[in-house]
Amino acid sequence: MKNIVVQKFGGTSVASSEKIKNVAQVILKEKSKGNSVVVIVSAMGHTTDQLLKLADEVNTSPSPRELDMLLSTGECVSASLLAMALQAEGYKAVSMNAMQAQIITEKAYNCARIIDIKTDNILKHINNDEIVIITGFQGITSDNEITTLGRGGSDTSAVAVAAALNAQRCDIYTDVEGVYTTDPRIVPNATRLDEISYDEMLELARVGANVMHPRSVETAKQYNIPLRVRSSFKTDNLGTLILGVEDMEIRRTVTGVAADLSQLRIVVCDVPDVPGNAGRLFDRLAKDDISVDMIIQSYARKHTNTNDIAFTIDKKDLTKVQSIIEEIKQELGCSNILVDDNIAKISIVGAGMIDHPGIAAMMFKTLAANDINIKMISTSEIKISCLVDEKYAKDAVKELHSAFNLGCDEIAEVKGTLPE
Ligand code: ASP
Ligand code: MG
Repeated sequence: MKNIVVQKFGGTSVASSEKIKNVAQVILKEKSKGNSVVVIVSAMGHTTDQLLKLADEVNTSPSPRELDMLLSTGECVSASLLAMALQAEGYKAVSMNAMQAQIITEKAYNCARIIDIKTDNILKHINNDEIVIITGFQGITSDNEITTLGRGGSDTSAVAVAAALNAQRCDIYTDVEGVYTTDPRIVPNATRLDEISYDEMLELARVGANVMHPRSVETAKQYNIPLRVRSSFKTDNLGTLILGVEDMEIRRTVTGVAADLSQLRIVVCDVPDVPGNAGRLFDRLAKDDISVDMIIQSYARKHTNTNDIAFTIDKKDLTKVQSIIEEIKQELGCSNILVDDNIAKISIVGAGMIDHPGIAAMMFKTLAANDINIKMISTSEIKISCLVDEKYAKDAVKELHSAFNLGCDEIAEVKGTLPE
C-alpha cells in the first residue's frame, strides 16, 4: 500500500474558486510523488462567522443542535468544490462529510471531541485511487446527530484522521508561513522556527499564539504524528515541523514569547489562614465550571492571621464569577474581592529551559529594566509566565524577544493587524 499523506487547508486557503484551484494543484503535487492523499478542509474564508451572524439575526440564543446543523454546511461547500476542481483536472476525487467518513464524536454540540474514526469507507476510496476530501470541523454521534468540534477544529479533524489512517505525515496548510518565535505583527523580525516540540507548541498555543487548535497538537503528540505548518501560497517553503522533543535536532532554551490578553485577575483579600479555605474557594469556582489558571497565595500575615489568594480566569467567565462573589465572601470570611481586567500574561517557552539556570532571572530583569511591574508569576517545566499591566503587553513581548536573541535579519510577511 502507498504512503498516506494528510493535508489540511484552512479557510483562507480555500476562500475563492481561484484559491480552490490553487489548492487542487498543491494536492496533485503531493499525489505525483506517489502518495495517497487525504485532504481535510475548513469552510471558505469567513463562512463560519457569516453563518453565526445569520443565526444571531433569527435567534440571539440559537439551540446548540441547530447551530451545528448550520455551521457544518460551510465545510460541505468547500469539500465538494475542491473535489470538483480535482475532477476538472482529470483526477478521481470524492468529498465525504463526517457521516460518510464516520468521524464519531461524543454528543456535545459546538465542542464535541472525536471518539473514533471508522476508516473502512475512507480506505475503500483510497484503494480505488481516489483523492479523498473530508469536511473538517464536523462529526457525527452514534445516534446520527451532527456535531462540530469548536472554532478552529478542522486542525483537530486532520490530525485525528492522520492518526486513524496511520498517515506518514500531516501537513497543515494555512496563510502563515509557519510558527514564529512571536507574533510578527508585534515583532517584525520574529523568526520562523524550523522545528518546535509538541509541548512547546501546546504552551504557545495556550498562551495566545493563534497558529494551531491546541487539541490538534495534543492528538498529534498522543499518536506521535509529525505536523508541518506551512503556507498554501508559498509551497516551496517547508514551514515549521511540530514533533516529539526526542526527535528534535536542537533544543533551545527559549523558543518563543507570547502574550495572552484573554484573562483577568481576581484577588481575594484577607482570607483567614485556616485549613480548607483554598479548597472551598476553588471548589465553588469549579462548581460553576470556571477554570483557573495562575494561582498565588501570599505568606500569612502574623498579626491578622490572614493571607490573600490571587488567581486568573478567562475574561468570558467574569459574569459567572461576579454572581458568586458575595457568596464566596461570606463563606470564606474574607474582607474584599478585587477584579482586575487590564492584565496581560506574558510567557516565554522553551524545552531546554529545565537545565539552564538564569532564564527566569533574565526574564524578570528584562521586565524591570523597562519599568514593567510583575503582578504574578507562574512556571511549568518549559514555561515562565508573568502577569503585567495590559498596556505593557507589546513592549514586554518586544523586549523579551530581543533579550533572548530570538530575532532574525529578515522581516516576516505580516498578515492582518492586531486587534487594539
Ligand atoms: N470553519 C471552522 C471555523 O472557522 C473550523 C476551522 O476553520 O477550523 O472555526
Ligand atoms: Mg479556520
